Amino acid sequence: MTENQTKKSESSFTSDIRQGVSNEGCLVLYSGGQDSATCLAWALEHFDRVETIGFDYGQRHKVELECRENLKQKLIQNFPDWAARLGEDHMLDLAVLHQVSDCALTRETEIAFGKDGIPNSFVPGRNLLFFTFAATIAYRRGLRHIVGGMCETDYSGYPDCRDDTIKALQVAINLGLERRLVLHTPLMWLDKASTWQMAEEVGGKELVEIIRQESHSCYLGERKILHDWGYGCGHCPACELRAAGWENYQKGLLG
Ligand code: ZN
Repeated sequence: MTENQTKKSESSFTSDIRQGVSNEGCLVLYSGGQDSATCLAWALEHFDRVETIGFDYGQRHKVELECRENLKQKLIQNFPDWAARLGEDHMLDLAVLHQVSDCALTRETEIAFGKDGIPNSFVPGRNLLFFTFAATIAYRRGLRHIVGGMCETDYSGYPDCRDDTIKALQVAINLGLERRLVLHTPLMWLDKASTWQMAEEVGGKELVEIIRQESHSCYLGERKILHDWGYGCGHCPACELRAAGWENYQKGLLG
């Protein structure tokens, strides 16, 4: 066993995948944010055929969609093994979400948190739709695994990101498609500091730097100022979360 393999077997982030690279195909829900970029790298490390899916639903900030392409190109340039595994990108137009939602991400409204702790950026059931569309593409493409960056730790207010929701959805999708697809959420129990740490374990400091510079989280679409933790306005909930995660990652305070 090489030193690299030894290190990986000790990692706490790979426990739900058997050792080595699976020859089964994988589809990653990839938006260009920190979480989905980390998931894409994780998938490229574990599956020998990886495709990506993105959703354009009239977000206020097209900047995230541009970032997802730039970040992918950086992975291709810097990780030859991953470049060989990375396949097609599927971009779906979900403008219909704009019709069924009334929220800050799709309208020019300030991000705020309701009495129930759920931010008004919440599009009800959005992730149920994303996974269902992803499953349809995965079925067509013969990809058995679907990876999403949902997590309970940072956004416990989103009921469609919860572990039980995803597990129930996996059952429903498999019954509805008569397949055995596997929905993976490798970030489910990680905070943002641990997500940075996972990126380091998967692709080293090189990957951390790519995600720091190329991924986008800011709700306001701000990409003029490069902070220690990446680009963003520094004040919106997404920037505050990302900045705090980066600081804890730097201090080794992992949750
Ligand atoms: Zn921001």
